[in-house]
Amino acid sequence: MRFREKFDLLDWEQVKQSIYSKTANDVQKALHAKKRNLEDFKALISPAAEPYLEQMAQLSHELTKKRFGKTVQLFVPMYLSNECHNICTYCGFSLDNKIKRKTLSPIEILTEINEIKKHGFNHILLVTGEANQTVHVDYFKKAIELIKPYFANISIEVQPLKKEEYEILKECGLYAVLVYQETYHKEKYKTYHPAGKKSNFYYRLETPDRIGKAGIHKIGLGVLLGLEDWRTDSFFCAYHLDYLERNYWQTKYSISFPRIRPAEGNFNPLYSITEKELVQLICAYRIWNEEVELSISTRESEKFRNHVFKIGITSMSAGSKTNPGGYAVEKESLEQFDVCDERSPEEIASFLLSHQYEPVWKDWDKSFQISYEPIEQR
Ligand code: SF4
Repeated sequence: MRFREKFDLLDWEQVKQSIYSKTANDVQKALHAKKRNLEDFKALISPAAEPYLEQMAQLSHELTKKRFGKTVQLFVPMYLSNECHNICTYCGFSLDNKIKRKTLSPIEILTEINEIKKHGFNHILLVTGEANQTVHVDYFKKAIELIKPYFANISIEVQPLKKEEYEILKECGLYAVLVYQETYHKEKYKTYHPAGKKSNFYYRLETPDRIGKAGIHKIGLGVLLGLEDWRTDSFFCAYHLDYLERNYWQTKYSISFPRIRPAEGNFNPLYSITEKELVQLICAYRIWNEEVELSISTRESEKFRNHVFKIGITSMSAGSKTNPGGYAVEKESLEQFDVCDERSPEEIASFLLSHQYEPVWKDWDKSFQISYEPIEQR
């Protein structure tokens, strides 16, 4: 059965009701289970689990240490373009925001890379808006080919593509694709995405299937926390992950936890998730699923990230700029959202080391030498 059909079997309100009616007994059962299912996940994200947060954090820490060791992968996002043909009511890059648009040229990409590599990063996430005429599969292919010599691991967070397009990018060395549904509330999705290709809820919903079929190594899922009730949205995301793991079992998966941050357009989220609740959600994912990678970005504060890295997180962005050209080319252009943890990658790494955690990020063996020419021939 396709995920779309599985998704249509569930009713948002009924799912919400079943999460909110979980009891302390359900939570205890989930905490002590040998094998956990989606009903256990519901219990762990429910209000009934709040008094068990300490216990959940301890268990989550132990499970993460057992599976991943005391390591945290550090990666850097690089925004290639802020051009976008969609209207998303919460985003600074939305088509209806009158901002200066920019797409990096090959030389500008290398200029950014030159700056990024000064910190030694080996894992990079390429991010764009959704402007299919200028930022398309050929553009991504060229960008990946251009930077491949300098990174062991290249991920993208761009518009949903066709299966054949993912296959082309995989051939050039693409490692992972991140695609967040934003919200699984079908009706509300339309109000947040009133125009552009992204307004097609089901095309986005079926994107991870196309990525899985293309054989991409890793798929990243998530919801934009603040668009809808975080518990119900997170359940649907876990339901999606569960389906994907059963159907594309050779693929690795990650979950991210983007909370809405201030951006151009002054969007005020209708729903909130507190830091305590975000901790509960991170722990719930880890306890329910011991294999999934969990990622936290610089949207979160230094203080918060300094606490959560021990309880389930396996990767963190560091030193991030969320504007195209933000590292070297055009430092002052508009950011997609405000970065909250503004520490340098070195500061984050030394913090992790001081807590006996190993930051995995540098390629120590190679002396870095970027080649700017001949770009025209690339
Ligand atoms: S969230 Fe993505 S698709 Fe929507 S406006 Fe922003 S960049 Fe464009």
